Amino acid sequence: MEHTTEQNFEILGVSQDLIAGLAKQNIIHPTDIQQKMIPAICTGQDVVGRSETGSGKTLAYLLPIFLRLDPNIRGTQAIILAPTHELAAQVHKQAELLAKNAGVKVGSALIIGTAGIQRQMEKLKEKPQIVVGSAGRMLDLIKRRKIQAHLVKTIVLDEGDRLLEDGNFAAVQAVIKTTLRDRQIVLLSASVGGETLQRAKQIMKENMLQLEGEAKSGLVPENIAHHYILANHREKFLMLRKVLAGEKPTKAMIFLNNPENIEVTVDKLNYHGIKADGIYGQAGKTDRKTALEDFRNGKISVLVASDIGARGLDIQDVTHVIHMDIPEDPTQYLHRAGRCGRNGKSGCSISIVTPYERKWIHKYEKVWQIRFTQKDMVQGKLTDSDKTKKDLQKKTQKQPDTQKQKNHTQKKQKPKKSYAKKK
Ligand code: AMP
Repeated sequence: MEHTTEQNFEILGVSQDLIAGLAKQNIIHPTDIQQKMIPAICTGQDVVGRSETGSGKTLAYLLPIFLRLDPNIRGTQAIILAPTHELAAQVHKQAELLAKNAGVKVGSALIIGTAGIQRQMEKLKEKPQIVVGSAGRMLDLIKRRKIQAHLVKTIVLDEGDRLLEDGNFAAVQAVIKTTLRDRQIVLLSASVGGETLQRAKQIMKENMLQLEGEAKSGLVPENIAHHYILANHREKFLMLRKVLAGEKPTKAMIFLNNPENIEVTVDKLNYHGIKADGIYGQAGKTDRKTALEDFRNGKISVLVASDIGARGLDIQDVTHVIHMDIPEDPTQYLHRAGRCGRNGKSGCSISIVTPYERKWIHKYEKVWQIRFTQKDMVQGKLTDSDKTKKDLQKKTQKQPDTQKQKNHTQKKQKPKKSYAKKK
């Protein structure tokens, strides 16, 4: 975690009870983005903050929210919007933990679609000062007058670039419109591009502040190593198994481009005796929650996800991020890789790419000023490699015979594979 030791939360105007609460989480020195954002948000101005993944952005806005709200006034004083239910749940938990550890009477409610609206309405009767959730459900409850938007002082757009994309922008704007004009808007992400800024300007006031977290080199944390392995498309799964067997990650997140392939990948991993689960949109809410909780508490060590599922998730001890498909957008790579190497720990991001996909690796190197090393799995070890496209082609040419032979022996000795769930 990047912070200067001489800085402390007191200088930033954080109250003693909050400082004591943070200390219980072993948080003593503010990170760079916290040093910049806490005083800025406390002024009440609109703020856009960009800083690398895992740099403490959540507390960078939660602390000033706690400082600005009046615990004696019951009712919504801060709305925090997040693009996924998992991220909203994480932020809500952090807000509850901070209130509990600091001994302050600040309530938080989690307001997300697909979960029981009745229970959320019950919770809102307690008049929590903070509500965290998705824009659609938030709007619904504001319209039903279960959330009083007129008291709102701050609206946070966490992973704001995502929230301002086409699919979400209208709902976010609608939520903002229900609040009074003098509230502030705070937007955060590791990736704030030109389009995001343009939309941010549409919803924010003219004197908006733009803050950047300090980064030694680009926005990808330095403690993440970037590797790629060249493989033919149909060899990718075998390569994944080799990587998992050789690297023995404490926790690995596997990324696919298409969420529809998550389930079959999870089933295949389970079939091969690897305890894995996935976060996929089609699964019921509880399934998604269990998968994430099992991964957090170490019951399973492999979690398969798509880009949408994994934004902003802060999971301790993710040592490896493995890209089975490579995202064409460099921003997605940044967010994926940022799931490991958090809290100053080292992380390893491995992309399994076809020769065609390799061009994206070069693009990431340029955009994020990072270096990739080509690797291969040799005798169970991740080893430097200079395997070329030609080497892969040679292998493919040889393959029909070996494949034939393999199928032949398989027919005789083994029953046909079934990837039915072994749970
Ligand atoms: P975030 O970027 O908000 O997801 O935070 C990443 C992780 O850093 C979380 O586990 C936080 O609890 C932790 N964290 C946040 N601020 C600090 C800090 N000032 N010192 C040490 N750890 C922190």
